[in-house]
Amino acid sequence: MQVITEITQLRKALSSLRQGSIALVPTMGYLHEGHLALVAAAKAQNDTVVMSIFVNPTQFGPNEDFESYPRDLARDSKLAAEAGVDFIFAPSVEEMYPVNGSVVLQAGAMASKLCGASRPTHFDGVVQVVAKLFNIVQPTRAYFGQKDAQQLAIIETMVRDFNFPIEICAVPIVREADGLAKSSRNVYLTKEQRDKAPAIYKELTRLQQGKQTREATKEAIERATGGKIDYLTKLAYPDLTEPTASTKRFVLAVAVFVGKTRLIDNIIWEVV
Ligand code: AMP
Repeated sequence: MQVITEITQLRKALSSLRQGSIALVPTMGYLHEGHLALVAAAKAQNDTVVMSIFVNPTQFGPNEDFESYPRDLARDSKLAAEAGVDFIFAPSVEEMYPVNGSVVLQAGAMASKLCGASRPTHFDGVVQVVAKLFNIVQPTRAYFGQKDAQQLAIIETMVRDFNFPIEICAVPIVREADGLAKSSRNVYLTKEQRDKAPAIYKELTRLQQGKQTREATKEAIERATGGKIDYLTKLAYPDLTEPTASTKRFVLAVAVFVGKTRLIDNIIWEVV
């Protein structure tokens, strides 16, 4: 496995591999088994796997955790190599944003819901960096986790609207044994918060199964975690619109502040 930090170097390294298929797995690093599930899916379907590791400043708001976001490239390199990644692309912020660009992509109406309501510029930053990574790597397929269901829906829309010749592949949420969705941000949790956090998925599941109301679910999550619900919302998926009588596919999504840590989770399901 090679770790590459420059765009020109990566392009050069990939140029002789383009007869085969190339997978891109975009991440912000501090890898866990969720990321490695994306790699496993990518490896199963492609000849070459590129993982990007870039904590993208443009998707963080001014009072968010860009500075403190966990970073450990040495640890990530070891895990990625073991998982069979061929190239890590780990650019600096200057390499990705040498000039303050003036042509912008906007994530549009889908970005105003769910996480976008409390993180108003987040998805503009996401589509900016993902569009750049798509153009830099020019992958055959790109892999995204359903953990970030809204991100996945917006990326699928961007690919459709801007004609990126890339297949978007969705990978189910990987959870800890007690149900907590794996996340790089779980390291922020104190032992006590970590022990209580599985209540999020447990109560979300009860709501999805019709065993309790939305209000009761909010209260149960806040009581169990000592946290504060940011949103608990059911929408049609992937359009992220209000469900109607003809809606067949749903997302039930939650964001909770547990202390200063914002945890997200969701369940996507279909009715026949
Ligand atoms: P991140 O490094 O948190 O930006 O995540 C990079 C990619 O990994 C995104 O496509 C995420 O949706 C995906 N991902 C993160 N956590 C999980 C998880 N627990 N299960 C599945 N995919 C995940």
